[in-house]
Amino acid sequence: MPEMITVQGLTKRYGRGLALAGLDMHVPAGAIYGLLGSNGAGKTTLLRVLCGLQKPTGGTYALFGGNGTAYRGRMGAMIEAPALWGDMSAAENLRQQLLLLGVSDEEKVESLLKLLGLERAGGKKTKYFSLGMRQRLGIAMALAGDPELLLLDEPTNGLDPRGVIFLRRLIQRLNRERGMTIVVASHNLDELERIATHYGVMENGRMLREMAANEIEGSLEDCYLALTGGDMDA
Ligand code: ATP
Repeated sequence: MPEMITVQGLTKRYGRGLALAGLDMHVPAGAIYGLLGSNGAGKTTLLRVLCGLQKPTGGTYALFGGNGTAYRGRMGAMIEAPALWGDMSAAENLRQQLLLLGVSDEEKVESLLKLLGLERAGGKKTKYFSLGMRQRLGIAMALAGDPELLLLDEPTNGLDPRGVIFLRRLIQRLNRERGMTIVVASHNLDELERIATHYGVMENGRMLREMAANEIEGSLEDCYLALTGGDMDA
């Protein structure tokens, strides 16, 4: 399978600390790639570097099998809290996002609202949105450019059970119907186990191991504990 993301020896230094400490990563095209790691492992930093929001200190990465920035329009991302215009409605936020992409397309606004179940959010300003609604709109914004690669950082944050199920199905649908490669950083092993085709387990800014879902013997939970050295027997 060709690689959608290839990362080699990536480092990112903040002051005296290394958030990324020589990280390698290989995301096959067409994968749903679950990125796992404890708090502070460096997942968000990695995703920010991949989107060009931050410059790495060292190492290399290639997206879509190449270098350069031409690919930026082919990827979408929601990292940390979605960046929204608080005084605008969901539709206005999407219109604005599309304008930034050089598109004016009212049907697209409607279809994105529908895809994320926000068609009834009406004229409500997004600063009054619940956390779950913000997450949904953040994902709609990330999808505005019809990306081939989607990066999501803790997308189930703040979602209620219906929201979690909805998002899981959406990720599967985007992957299946549009062939989208999706990287999901999450602490929720059960959720990831239901959808991921591949995993990467990070610790201390390094990739401990990458594997396809079918290479895992037993549960993801046991595999994760074995890799991260945790003996959690109660
Ligand atoms: P979590 O699961 O808690 O979201 P994470 O795996 O996403 O964690 P990062 O947010 O990438 O981890 O953080 C990795 C390390 O880099 C942490 O030690 C963090 O304190 C540090 N770090 C991240 N951003 C900055 C920053 N802007 N300035 C200084 N240190 C930072």
